[in-house]
Amino acid sequence: MKRPIYLDYNATTPIDPLVFEAMLPYFQAEFGNSVSAAHAYGWNAEKAVEKARAQIADFLGCLPQEIIFTAGATESNNWVIRGLFDRLQREEPTQKIEMISSPLEHSSITRALKFVESRGVKIHWAEVNAKGQLNLDQIESLITPHTKLMSFMWINNEIGTINPMQELAQIAHRHQVYLHSDGTQALGKTPVNLSTTPINLFSFSAHKIYGPKGVGALVIRSKNPKVQIDPLLHGGGHEKGLRSGTLNVPAIVGLGAACELTKNQMTEEIQKLRGLQKFFWNQIQAAFPEARLNGPALEERAPNNLNISFLNKRVPPSFAEIAISRGSACNSGATTVSPVLKAIGSTEAEADRTLRISLGRWTTEAELTEALKSLQKTIL
Ligand code: PMP
Repeated sequence: MKRPIYLDYNATTPIDPLVFEAMLPYFQAEFGNSVSAAHAYGWNAEKAVEKARAQIADFLGCLPQEIIFTAGATESNNWVIRGLFDRLQREEPTQKIEMISSPLEHSSITRALKFVESRGVKIHWAEVNAKGQLNLDQIESLITPHTKLMSFMWINNEIGTINPMQELAQIAHRHQVYLHSDGTQALGKTPVNLSTTPINLFSFSAHKIYGPKGVGALVIRSKNPKVQIDPLLHGGGHEKGLRSGTLNVPAIVGLGAACELTKNQMTEEIQKLRGLQKFFWNQIQAAFPEARLNGPALEERAPNNLNISFLNKRVPPSFAEIAISRGSACNSGATTVSPVLKAIGSTEAEADRTLRISLGRWTTEAELTEALKSLQKTIL
């Protein structure tokens, strides 16, 4: 049977063959523990981990020692919120703590914030407009002397909104509040340079940039200011004592290789994705005149994303010929309306007619033409 056309690159991406190749030796021949300091197996593993750290630092514009490997963005996001909360509570148990974020964030932010809210933290949810865009003045007005963290994703996974990280960094700096960004969907789709956009904490996962699943990192800046959060895991003292546990060397090698590849290809890749995005949206509009694009205008959104409501149509619960997402991929299977669509004002009936399409490295015009035919057969 023919495999479905994959149009769900925001959910996950296949491993790039070059990344896979780079990982292979570290499963068998070079299986050492990166902290085994007394023999060559350990040295080789450590060398591979440090090479990956350098590749990532080069891609992100941070220092290698600012990168702490984790199991992915969910872990990094939870750690930012809980690690900061733990540190503040430990230092001064009675102090008031406030944090600012947006209803458009991934559940690994919103739910972690609700968790610390249950422990007494006041959470301010920033307003978003119908396109999912923030209001910087309103955000600044939410800051009080108790505000310790602002957390805003760089690119939204569902509707492709690109947040103004430079301006947010200026606001955070002016008020001496830590700024965290979930950069999971931004890498490879917009330039990210932490040396010119001074964000204090930055999360991401390898599997959205053609690397392996279950690995990612948290960047914790060491200067201007030195960011302090409590350790996530206690144990053997790996990762500067902040996140103990034997490192997943092949996965980390894959993350490093994926970053290097993305860095080298992204200018061309963004251009290609923009072309395909426009091509597909034009085709969809011609075939479904009532289709509505949710989120920002084409040229203002992530280059690979379309989020479309097929008003007055019936959208099936699943698709056989194309791999496409209804709402956030992490929620597929559940029948709840996507909180992102809800936050930008979609009704339940509209959300039920909404599809997220995300293009990637191997998407072609021929695939999109075929996908359109399939949509025409199934959306009636
Ligand atoms: N943040 C965003 C914006 C995401 O899109 C995702 C993945 N859907 C995550 C965080 C979580 O990443 P992971 O599942 O790799 O932990």
